[in-house]
Amino acid sequence: MNISSSSSSSSSSSSSSSSSSSSIKKIFIDPGHVGNSFFDFRYFKMDDIEFHEGDFCFVWAEVLQKALLGKIELSELSRNNGQPSIVIANHEHQIRMSELINSIGTEAALKNFRVPKNFFPLKTTDQLLEAAVQNEADLLNRARIASEQTFDLCLSLHLNGDPTSLKTEKNGICGFTNHISKTHYLLFEKIIKNISIMTGLPIFKIEQLDEVSTGVFVDESLTLLKNISIPTLLIEGPFQNNPAELLLLNQSLNQLQAKGKVEGRLEQLTKAIVSAI
Ligand SMILES: [Zn+2]
Repeated sequence: MNISSSSSSSSSSSSSSSSSSSSIKKIFIDPGHVGNSFFDFRYFKMDDIEFHEGDFCFVWAEVLQKALLGKIELSELSRNNGQPSIVIANHEHQIRMSELINSIGTEAALKNFRVPKNFFPLKTTDQLLEAAVQNEADLLNRARIASEQTFDLCLSLHLNGDPTSLKTEKNGICGFTNHISKTHYLLFEKIIKNISIMTGLPIFKIEQLDEVSTGVFVDESLTLLKNISIPTLLIEGPFQNNPAELLLLNQSLNQLQAKGKVEGRLEQLTKAIVSAI
């Protein structure tokens, strides 16, 4: 795979002062998904709201990066706004697709990639697999960038969602980690609990994954977690396909755009992380 980091990272910020009591100095912030016009699997259209998980998570990452100034030495984002960290060439795309189709088949591959097929009734399974393969390359590249540089921690920011239905009553917070130390695990738990407290949402249980502590799960099947070599906390914020929640998430983005103020969900999700670090 032709991996290039030329367009991989965006703004860095640093500060000479550090008020953090933890040993975490350098954080790689990964806004999950891509957003913008780029095809990805977390896109919702409800009433007059068009919402991309990737767009929200990018703004969340930027707000978080600002809020961490002075608390840690350095933070860097895994991608630029609305762009994957890498776009793979056509022939590489074809090679990976055939590999998957020949080994496990399209349906199983889509299942492994956690592509919610019913979100895109107009797309063929081949089109979905094509997008999933690009997504896989992007995630592998993000893992590579994070691992090659000297970050202490990766925070991968996501929103939750129910892949089985377009609208859901479910709402809650959860997270995933790779193999991490006890200290990092305590930080992870603290962040998840803080988000739950600040948003007033429960910690959500995902039954098929191994439960290691109330509502917090370790999972190795996620591409980023499986391929990254630094401690990584994948945070899943509120359910974006809960209509009431979608309004709150979208409102928060609009407030920031209109008034320049970090309020509502964006403020809660950011403060929950900053106060835990
Ligand atoms: Zn996500």
